[in-house]
Amino acid sequence: MGKGPGCLLCGHKCRVDRSGKDLGQCGAGTRVGFSTYLIHPGEEPPLSGRQEGAGSGTIFFSRCNLKCVFCQNWQISQANQNCQDIDEERLVEIMFQLASLGAHNINLVSPTPYALEIAKAIAKAKIQGLKLPIVYNSGGYDSKTCLALMDGLVDIYLPDAKIGLSPEEDENQPDARSMRLFGAGDYVKHNRLALKEMKRQVGHLLMDQNGLAVKGLLVRHLVLPDNLARTDSLLRWLRDQLGADLYLSLMAQYHPANQIKLGDNPEFRSYPGLGRPLSVREYEQWTELAWSLGLHNTFVQDLAAASQMRPDFGKDDVFE
Ligand code: SF4
Repeated sequence: MGKGPGCLLCGHKCRVDRSGKDLGQCGAGTRVGFSTYLIHPGEEPPLSGRQEGAGSGTIFFSRCNLKCVFCQNWQISQANQNCQDIDEERLVEIMFQLASLGAHNINLVSPTPYALEIAKAIAKAKIQGLKLPIVYNSGGYDSKTCLALMDGLVDIYLPDAKIGLSPEEDENQPDARSMRLFGAGDYVKHNRLALKEMKRQVGHLLMDQNGLAVKGLLVRHLVLPDNLARTDSLLRWLRDQLGADLYLSLMAQYHPANQIKLGDNPEFRSYPGLGRPLSVREYEQWTELAWSLGLHNTFVQDLAAASQMRPDFGKDDVFE
């Protein structure tokens, strides 16, 4: 990144030299923006397990290459609260601290802008004896360049598929809805490429005898009110392109957060459904569609999850 074409780690392709004064859309420099780490009991069962006190060893990075207007992690992804700039050595230390706390895996949240430094840290940690699966937990807007860095280092990909396109829409044309909701009008085009590359690298999700993930792809989709994420088209694309054996997490936890909490926000006026949580009926509609399409490895959430496990990065206990 320091030399050559500049940063090409995500679909934005900012081409900036981040070692200088220029920063790209994510605002990241060359040091790793770190927020916090914890044992997370609330990820999908193959990641967090079911054992009391254990969970996914989660590392939250600051800043993000996407700008989701309802991001529940907005305090660290967009407001950079409590951001510390750390080096690879510290990141390796944190991985081992999580391992010593009994983590089932190392779960890297919003890693994309730091892919270069993270790849070096993973390689060092593995050489030093870290045996836990590495989970790459991104918004799914990662470039080919970024994923090439991760090839052979990441065990489990946990990307979002945030939105689909209707059959009459063209992935090569800017999508106004993706632009307004996520700050990336070409999100779908890059997301499709990223998901295919992730599957090529690691295949479908594999679990051990305890039901814990050891390798593979698990795609997350957050259902939005009023089908704003075009969930029906997305599910069909996932089934057709990644296969009915795909592991999918259909998330029900949408709630108005970040800019959507502000009643005078233009996004809120354009998409009034974003001002409310999902209804039981509309969530069931999409879980039923997933089953009927043959997506038999679909994790579903209790709608009560919408009011639980909401992070507050201003507190010592983030998920209190
Ligand atoms: S990670 Fe993406 S948003 Fe950030 S500078 Fe690189 S290309 Fe731009």
